[in-house]
Amino acid sequence: MEFKSRNCWQVYGSEEHRSAMDRIAGEYVNFLSACKTERETIEWARSRAVLHGFSEDLEGDKFFKIHKGKSIILAWRGKKPLSGGLRLFGAHADTPRLDLKQRPLYEECRVSLAKTHYYGGIRKHQWLARPLALHGTIVKTDGSAINICIGEKESDPVFTVADLLPHLAYKQIEKKLSEAFEAEKLNVILGHIPLAGNSITKESEGNEKNGQHVKKGVLQMLNQKFGIIEEDLYSAELQAVPAGPARFVGLDEGLIGGFGHDDRACVFTGLMAFLEKGSTECTRVAIFWDKEEIGSEGSSGAKSLFLEYTLEDILEAWAPKTRLRTVFANSRAISGDVHAAMDPDYQEVHEKLNASLLGHGPVFCKFTGHRGKVGANDAHAEYIGWLRSILNREGIPWQMAETGRVDLGGGGTIAKFLAIYGMDVIDFGPGVLSMHSPFEIVSKADIYATYLAYSRFFNAREKIHEHQES
Ligand code: MN
Ligand code: MN
Repeated sequence: MEFKSRNCWQVYGSEEHRSAMDRIAGEYVNFLSACKTERETIEWARSRAVLHGFSEDLEGDKFFKIHKGKSIILAWRGKKPLSGGLRLFGAHADTPRLDLKQRPLYEECRVSLAKTHYYGGIRKHQWLARPLALHGTIVKTDGSAINICIGEKESDPVFTVADLLPHLAYKQIEKKLSEAFEAEKLNVILGHIPLAGNSITKESEGNEKNGQHVKKGVLQMLNQKFGIIEEDLYSAELQAVPAGPARFVGLDEGLIGGFGHDDRACVFTGLMAFLEKGSTECTRVAIFWDKEEIGSEGSSGAKSLFLEYTLEDILEAWAPKTRLRTVFANSRAISGDVHAAMDPDYQEVHEKLNASLLGHGPVFCKFTGHRGKVGANDAHAEYIGWLRSILNREGIPWQMAETGRVDLGGGGTIAKFLAIYGMDVIDFGPGVLSMHSPFEIVSKADIYATYLAYSRFFNAREKIHEHQES
């Protein structure tokens, strides 16, 4: 009669499950270490799709389309008419980080730095005094694009934002947290050696503005390495992200720490489940968007018409007489996004009856939003009933939770942008500790259970008969 969520480590205790779990976790760590930007993630998704026979040609049954290198739609045609709706999975490929400003380069106090404008909801102090890598793309006026990735190989240098020493922080520590760390002080150190042959003259000495020899040194290096001039940075998208690979955490290696579990955990497990050969009944669609962390704006975000337009093309090729609105209205979707797992040190921000535990499986979040569910998709009870029946029949652990105590904060996901089409959709993904930090934590067991859950979602029948558990 009573519901208790189950611990995945117990449910998946068999040797068979544990070795599958280890294999998937290993692949996931490699993926997370390699893909730190939306562009890198979309490119990874594209290459996986191509390996599985997907192409940009609608003649076939396996189709994908990429928008601006930052979002991707994959569709796998099923046997049933499209009018019966899609099995749709959505997630986001962007992650909070420090974006370099368009005019980033300057020099102060014998170091050259880059100005940044943070992207998404970060806690600024977490980005100080730690090794950072630079990832991104620089586009020159001839149209050529240079992809940058510095700071990931062991032989690479890294970058960093310096922090204030405690000896001189007496005033700062008295400030409110929201005022203690200023965005305009999140400047990334890029270099230190003055331009060779450009000696420091009496006039330039002590006159940083006229001298700028270190900045010039950095510009020269950029020119030698990538053939670019300062102006090229104006048409660049460069991101400072935590340097180095994702790691297993804990003596037992039961957790995974890394940058961007939000929301690459769902991209990874969702795509894995999507590409697997299973039921061929329903047409499946997976979409990975950009810009979720800044409100799903822009032409690569979930508020764009990319999904709609692409599905129009798909319908024209696969089911020309079917109306798009019919397909949407009959579709069932999962918005794959991570959930705030109960933090052992900050349990007071959660309401325990409606909080989730690491290791107890993926979490349903019926609604997000803030202060009275404002801005939320509120999934329908009927749909949750159907999803529960799938997971219970398959014995997959799951949890039901909300983001935290009422009126303490809140958030949003892509769910509401799918809901506007009339389809059923709910947020469902693994719990995370230290969300939006440079080193987020997930449970290895949750990654496994999440993958299994997404896989069953794609394959489940529309009507499920099950005996109510007693
Ligand atoms: Mn997210
Ligand atoms: Mn997020």
